[in-house]
Amino acid sequence: MQCSRCAKSGEQLPDPPMGGQLGQKISDTICADCWQEWQNQQVILINHYGLQMADPDDRKKLIHAMKEFLGLELN
Ligand SMILES: [Zn+2]
Repeated sequence: MQCSRCAKSGEQLPDPPMGGQLGQKISDTICADCWQEWQNQQVILINHYGLQMADPDDRKKLIHAMKEFLGLELN
């Protein structure tokens, strides 16, 4: 597959990393390397902003940051 973020032909994720359309889109368009980059970035953001995954607002912020990071459309 050709990754829509880094434009390299990369390895696809073995499974959608999350449920729903978004997970499917990531699995279809984002390579495993870029996903790993986001995983690292996510940890930095969570620590920096003290985000709580149990908090719906914080989860929303993180999803927004993820879409931005991966170059997915923001909606
Ligand atoms: Zn990529």
